[in-house]
Order: sequence, then C-alpha cells, then structure tokens
Amino acid sequence: MPNLMKKLLFVTVILISFLTTNSQSSNPFSNHANSFEELNYLLATPNEYRTASGAPGPKYWQQRADYDISVELDEPNNVLKGSETVTYFNNSPNPLSYIWLQLDENFHNPSSDNNYTNTSRIESRMTDAQLTNLEPWRKLQGYGLNITAATDAAFRPLKYTINQTMMRINLPTTLNPGQRFVFKLGWNYKIPDKLTRSGRGGYEHFAEDDNNLYSISQFYPRLAVYTDFQGWQTIQFTGGAEFALTFGNFKVNITVPADHIVASTGECRNYRNVLTAAQLTRWQQAQTAKEPVEVVTLAEALQASKTKSTAKKTWTYEAENVRDFAFNTSRRLVWDAMAANIEGKKVMCMSYYGMEAYPLYRKYSTKVVAHTLKVYSKHTFSYPYPVAISVEAAIGMEYPMLAMNFGRAAKDGTYSEATKNGMIGVIIHEVGHNYFPMIVNSDERQYWWMDEGLNSFLQFLTEQEFDINFPSGRGPAHKIVEYMRLPKDKLEPIMTKGDAVASVGSNAYGKASTGLNILRETILGRQEFDHAFKEYARRWAFKHPTPADLFRTMEDASGTDLDWFWRGWFFGTNPVDISLDSVKWFKLNKSGVAVTQLPAGGFEPIHIIKNRTDTSRKFYTDIDTSLRDYYYYHRNADSIYNEQSRNLKANETADIANEGKWINKNFYQLTFTNKGGMIMPPIIEWTYTDGTKEVERVPVRIWMLSEQQATKVFIKDKQVASISLDPFRETADINESNGMWPVKEMPSRFQLFTQPSAAGRGQSSGDNSMHRALQQKKPDQ
Ligand SMILES: [Zn+2]
Repeated sequence: MPNLMKKLLFVTVILISFLTTNSQSSNPFSNHANSFEELNYLLATPNEYRTASGAPGPKYWQQRADYDISVELDEPNNVLKGSETVTYFNNSPNPLSYIWLQLDENFHNPSSDNNYTNTSRIESRMTDAQLTNLEPWRKLQGYGLNITAATDAAFRPLKYTINQTMMRINLPTTLNPGQRFVFKLGWNYKIPDKLTRSGRGGYEHFAEDDNNLYSISQFYPRLAVYTDFQGWQTIQFTGGAEFALTFGNFKVNITVPADHIVASTGECRNYRNVLTAAQLTRWQQAQTAKEPVEVVTLAEALQASKTKSTAKKTWTYEAENVRDFAFNTSRRLVWDAMAANIEGKKVMCMSYYGMEAYPLYRKYSTKVVAHTLKVYSKHTFSYPYPVAISVEAAIGMEYPMLAMNFGRAAKDGTYSEATKNGMIGVIIHEVGHNYFPMIVNSDERQYWWMDEGLNSFLQFLTEQEFDINFPSGRGPAHKIVEYMRLPKDKLEPIMTKGDAVASVGSNAYGKASTGLNILRETILGRQEFDHAFKEYARRWAFKHPTPADLFRTMEDASGTDLDWFWRGWFFGTNPVDISLDSVKWFKLNKSGVAVTQLPAGGFEPIHIIKNRTDTSRKFYTDIDTSLRDYYYYHRNADSIYNEQSRNLKANETADIANEGKWINKNFYQLTFTNKGGMIMPPIIEWTYTDGTKEVERVPVRIWMLSEQQATKVFIKDKQVASISLDPFRETADINESNGMWPVKEMPSRFQLFTQPSAAGRGQSSGDNSMHRALQQKKPDQ
C-alpha cells in the first residue's frame, strides 16, 4: 500500500474513532443543557440478546450450574467440611476453555485485598473494644477456603488457580456450546466469628448457654456468572458489594449434631429422620395452619441448649432454580411455621429464633414473611418457591428462601418500639430480596442499587401496607433531601460501581429507592409505574438484567420518555432545587381592552422599512375595512396575550376580543429557576384569598427549551393569597424556602429541635431509631 494511502487510512481511522467516541457521550455543544438527550449514548447497544425495548432478545441465553453438595459441621472445632459435584451447562454460543468460581470465604484470608484496602470501612463499624482486637484480625491465619480435591467426574485431577476470592479451573478439553462439564471439589474452612469478622457467614456464640448459632452462607465454591454482556464476572469479593450467581438445582446433605435444628434454602426431604414424632406432627399441623405453629417449641429449644449431643444427623434439602444456597443450624432454635396462600399457591412461611428474640419473632416474624410475599408478588410476580424463612441471626442478609434478620428483646422480655420496627423493616427487606436479586438476578457487585434500591423501594411499599403509620426510613422523597444537600464532592452517581460507592445506605438504598417512588408518585403515576415495574420483574425473573434493561423496560412499558430522569437521578448527582423567583399578577381593565397591572412597556422602534414607506398612501386594510378586527384598533393591548398565548386555545383568544370574558380573571406569571440542576416537574399549590387550595402539576417538558429558567402564565378565577412549590414534598427539593410566595421564613434548625412535633413524637423518634437500626446492621444487608 502506498504511503499516502496508509496516511489517509490512518487519518480516517482516527476520525471514525473520534466520532464514535464522541457519539458515546452527551453533546458538549448543547446550548440548553442535555437532560433531554437520548440516554442510549450511555447504554450498551441493543442486540439479539437484549432488545431496545428492554426485554430479553430472541437469542437470549444463560448458563446453568447444578450442585450436589454434602457438608458436615465439626462443632467442637468450628470447621465446615464439604464436597460437591457440579454440573455446568454451557448454554452460550461460545466455546469455553476455563470456568471461574467464587470462593467468598477467602475474604477472611489475610492476603485478601479487603484486608489491605477496606480497613477503614471495617473499623468504622466496630466498637472500641473490637478495635483493640484489630491486630489479631490482621494476623489471623488459617481462615479462608482450603481446596482439598479438584477432579473431573472420573476423579482425574483438574488444573486450577486461585486468585484471592476467585478460582479458575482450566478445562481438560474445550467445553463447546450445548455441552456440560461435571467436576468435583473437596474443601473445608474454619468458621469465623461473624460478629467480629464482618463478611457474611460465621457463627455467633451465646455465652449464657455456651452454644453457637451457625449461619453458613457463601460457603461452597460457586459458579461465577458468564453472560452475553460481560463474559466472566470476576470482580473480587471484599465484604461489601454482594454477588450474582448462576441459576441451577441443588441437592444438599447437611450433617450436624443430632440435637441441632436446621433452617435452610429449599425443601427438606427427610423431616421424618431428623424430627421427633411430636415435632413431625406439629409440622404436619402447620401445613394448614392460619396462625404460626411451633414445630420446635421454646421449651424444647431451652432444654436442647443445656446439653450437647455428640451424635450426628443428616438433613437433606432440595432447591430448584435458585442462584445460591445457605443455611443456619443450632440446638437453641425455636421454629414456627404457617401455610400462606400467595396468589393461589401454598407457601410455608417459617421463622427460627433463639429465646432472646422469642417475644418479638413469635408474634411477628412469620406473619411479616407472609405479608412481604403478598405485597411483593402483587408488584412483581407470584412467589415461585415452596418456602420462605426468617432467621434471627443478629445481622441482616438474604439468600434464596432464607433471610437472616435481627431484633431481640430485653432480658425481661420487653422491647422498644425502635427494636420492633427495625425488626419488621429488616424482615421485609431480607425476605424481599428473594425477588431482587435472588430471582431477578441483578449483580450487586457491579450495580449495588439494582439489588438494594429496587428492594428498598418495595420494602417501603410493604411497610406502608403493613401499617400506614410505619416509620419507614427510606422511600419518601423528602427523606433523601439531607443527603442531596451535601456538597458536590460528597455526592456520587447511583450508577457508581459496586465497592466504589462510598455512601451505600444513602445512595444505593436511599436515593435509588426514592427515585422509584418519585417516578411512581409524581412522574408516571401509580398505574403506569406499577404496570412497567411489574413488566420489568416479569421479563427478567430467573434471568440476568442490566441497568439498561430496567431503564428501557420502564420507558417502553409506560410509554414515557424517562431519559431525562435516568440521566439526572441515576447518572448524575445534581439535586432538585426549583426556586420561585417572581410572581406577577395581571388583570384586564373594565373595558377589556387594556391591561392594568402590566409592567410598563415601550413602543416598538420604527424599523427602516417602515421609515421608508409612504404612510399616507392607502393600505389594503384601508381599502377593505372588513379586514379590520379588535387588534387593528387596539394595537398595544396585546402584551397579556403574548405573555400567555401558549395557555389559550384558539377559541379563547377570540373570546378576548369578542366577549371580554377574561375581564375578571387573574393572570399570574410565575418564573422558576432550576437552581439544583436536576430537572423535575414543578408542582404548584395555590392558596386563594378565600382559603381554598388547588394543586397544579406542570409537565417536566417546561424545561425542554431552557433548563435554567422557565416562565409560565396561569389564569385563575380566584385571587391568589400564596403559592408554594412541591406542597407534598414529593420531588426531593433541597430548599423549600425559595419555593414560596409570599416568601416565608423557614424555621431554623434550632426552632425545629425545640418545637413539639405536630406529627407526634412516635413518628419522628421512630424514624431516628429506624435509621440507627438500619445503620447498625453489618456491613450491609
Ligand atoms: Zn438489602
């Protein structure tokens, strides 16, 4: 190829890549900001796997992994030993030469990244006493997963490497599309104390009866997700952002001391072998019970916790189409169960708890589980699994069919209102995670908000259906205002990746769930939102969605362009702050031809063409006077019409001239400034001089031609005494004082603290306690 041609080609390539890159971002040349630009610039291109409507495409595929696992608890040594046979199905169109597994238990290995990078996060959640033990934390040896065997189905050794919390198995032969690979792993690990070691699973020791509650989760080598949009997802687990996994069927044998009670993902296949005759009878009674039945009673649990059996029993579980498996086991657990009818299907709702949680959990837990399934099913899809479990295990964390929660009574059996509400909130939240992300299999390690934001949103709806006065911590728009008021450098986009999110609670839980509430209450309305959200859940149940799939489905199903909202609320950090800068009041005078309260206007300067025309000659309107109308005679009476011409229909403008029906009307011209940067529909509450009120909602399109300022005229019969923006605090506007006319003085922070609350003390103290309770939960739910 000649040199010149090479150069030309080079220049062309540069140009094309420049243009391509440029088209990926917002248009920097826009002169009225870019909130309304196509979001597609920021999303992956639709394809045959994921369509532009947000639905799975005609060639959508996903992998599958089935597990046959046997584990045995060595209680005296706090060691779990396990072996698993995994069948991995390559449903992708790609040949694979290796597969990746997650070894989350290696999070506890001292060489794991998190022990170098995340200490501040861990320390901030530790008490002073725990902090003094931080040195041993660093020195802890012997934690992490030991792989004792790795073979194919014929017991031939496999080659593998371990990269911290990830393990790659190099396949002996290429795994082609449509093929399956069966392999076997043996492993063991030292179970950590979960209250001081962060992470997820572990044991909690109860000194009063010298027993442990074992919460065994993220414990076995688990297939990482391989998808059309990213290949293998190999981001390390550092204790924060959770996980996504491949769906499959599980068969798990759990061998524990004979006096233990197991609470597990899946359905137990051999209660006959592990329960007493009396317990089995009560379990059968629970199948039709309308109130929770104690399958293992408090008396039995108290009795069992006094001694330790050295015999063993094996509990056998099966779970279909789940993405993970976890269990709890202890001899000190009470167990109650009740059948619930969830959209025509029987689901066994169950709770397991120690004596310290009995006064709360016995009364509430199982009923809250059933309530959660009912409300979530209504907004998504019918709960598909046969059981749903709540275990009191000090820390909130979710697994398929199995939620671990907190909430314990005082020694005398009493409990505070905050403890009760915190418990109800966390049970709804963790059970709710069955839907997001256990079934709608989004990936928190990349998009924290897809798990937590969507779930916190439905948690809020469920809490409010439990009790309309439930002091929900997150959800209503005004509750995110404090966060949105933070300085710019303290705010981060919701779309920030996994562990890079600094304010997880306020951002991934709070701001994301608030955004969905604003969409539901203010932008789409409940009917359209509920339809679209249910469609998203239905489309992506038992599949792997991305944020683009959610954004696109919500637009496609609601028929509303929401690009501005996703761009501003999810990709951006600007707060909402619409100020009402000026209110002008106009009236027509009695003759209907002039305007009384107009600002002084000038005459139009005579332009050069007019100046050069002989105005003494006859014009058409002089020759044919039928061309003359109202405006011919009243040339300067038009300014009010110009001000609000967009508001008046054609027949109404004729009315101005012909009937004078506008004479008694009040014209209010409002000017808004978008001070926060995040656009939002202005919501106006008019209070009239007769004391009545009216709320008017202006579409967000008012900002389309100028995102900085917007002016609009409103015509009212009555005279307006005052105006306030966003009267129901539904848009998360961070400054209410600039949205009022006449301008009102806002109470200072000091006044707010000293004023007795009109809403009632319970409400506000509940909020604070809820907030504390949610902050206390470790490291995240
Ligand atoms: Zn959560």
